[in-house]
Amino acid sequence: MPSAFSLYNTLTKNAESFEPIEAGKVGIYVCGMTVYDHIHIGHARAMIVFDSFVRYLRSAGWDVNFVRNFTDVDDKIINRANEAGEDPLAYAQKYIDAFHKDGDALGLLRPDKEPRVSTSMEAIFTLIRSLLERGHAYKSEGSVWFDVASCGDYGKLSRQKVDELRSADESAGKKNSADFALWKAVKPGEPSWESPWGAGRPGWHIECSAMAAECIGETIDIHGGGLDLVFPHHENEIAQSECGHGKPYARYWMHNGLLNMAAGQKMGKSLGNVINVRAALEDYPAEVLRLYYLQNHYRSPLLWDDQALPTALAMMCRLYEALEVAQSLAGNEPAATVVSDLGDDAKAVWQLGNSFADKLDQSLAQDFNTAQPIGHLFELARAINRFSNHKKAKKRGGPVVQPAIQGFKKVADALGLFQQEPAQFFVQVREKCIRKLGITATDVENLLDERKAARAAKDWDRADEIRAELDAKSIQVMDSPDGVTWRVSIQ
Ligand SMILES: [Zn+2]
Repeated sequence: MPSAFSLYNTLTKNAESFEPIEAGKVGIYVCGMTVYDHIHIGHARAMIVFDSFVRYLRSAGWDVNFVRNFTDVDDKIINRANEAGEDPLAYAQKYIDAFHKDGDALGLLRPDKEPRVSTSMEAIFTLIRSLLERGHAYKSEGSVWFDVASCGDYGKLSRQKVDELRSADESAGKKNSADFALWKAVKPGEPSWESPWGAGRPGWHIECSAMAAECIGETIDIHGGGLDLVFPHHENEIAQSECGHGKPYARYWMHNGLLNMAAGQKMGKSLGNVINVRAALEDYPAEVLRLYYLQNHYRSPLLWDDQALPTALAMMCRLYEALEVAQSLAGNEPAATVVSDLGDDAKAVWQLGNSFADKLDQSLAQDFNTAQPIGHLFELARAINRFSNHKKAKKRGGPVVQPAIQGFKKVADALGLFQQEPAQFFVQVREKCIRKLGITATDVENLLDERKAARAAKDWDRADEIRAELDAKSIQVMDSPDGVTWRVSIQ
């Protein structure tokens, strides 16, 4: 039996217990990218939130059908492609490939299905045909329009009144200003497909209604996306699907909050502050970005400033350090014996470790609260560090930290953090940080060799000088009986 959970439903504005359409299964459709540029840190929030949510559902025992589309036919793509003198579909394909590359680097699971507009025309025709037959759409000058007045509860997701609305689709031939295009008549310089209503291309919203029905069913369990999609996109999806199929569309609407730029700026190309995921990943491991997004509740607005990733990096280092310390503790006595011998710090780490899994489950089951368990993880990390300072912990503490280590593993399964061993993570940090410091690993190794030679020659001044030089570059040198290792120190 999969574990029960609740979700805040944008449609009802309430947290509700999740009831699947089919026992044990979740069909989730998430609006994906319009592919005309690289994925930026704003898009990445939705990607990471729903990726982690799907991981959580699977770890909780649900059989998940995860669908995320690509919008590969769209005004912006056509305009950009035309400016570049490229074929719009080839242009979109280029950015689908880039998305896959960046998404893989970001640690995103590939969805079970990734439909795209250009290969979903039959499903789009079927839905438009049904809307025309049922009297919810009309043809005019080679285009097909959705008749908003025919849809009694139009506006129910965004709670807006129809008579105050205008759709962005401006054209002569539509009856009401709120009506939006299902099919747009062909225009010069645009890609087009033959349809029962003449040559043209689909409007923006129809694709998601058609692809959700094709990939999941006419009624789906969960529909996800960014809060900015509630109106008009998701409102129009509901209208099309419910009027076209005569059934409820999505039972739960799950929207992630947006990323806000510091000083109240919105991220936008025109503001010159778009940060590509690809660029961010040059300087930071992917899990640092994931932690940055998940440390906040998915529905809260998230502030972005130039300290966002450095802070998340320092946080991730602290967590991996604690895990590394825990893994380094040895011993094979029963944990209870060690706990009773080693006192309060042993007891704290044992208790926090043992209660962690339940606390994690509870938080995630309540509207996917990832912020709280991350807080608990820091509590656990502090307890591990305190305990590991005890002289006897090194040789006997292993069994005491086992539940804590299991806790990290559970976070790995449910949220996609800790996908590697601490040592691998620190190598990654080292490589990325030294790049930023303007020094190479070889430079560091050479300086360390020189320091070794100086020490052998008892030239302590030179040895200290080198250490200070490395220190100034945030390179932390660690002497141990096994030799010298180094790390980039993170504040
Ligand atoms: Zn969509």
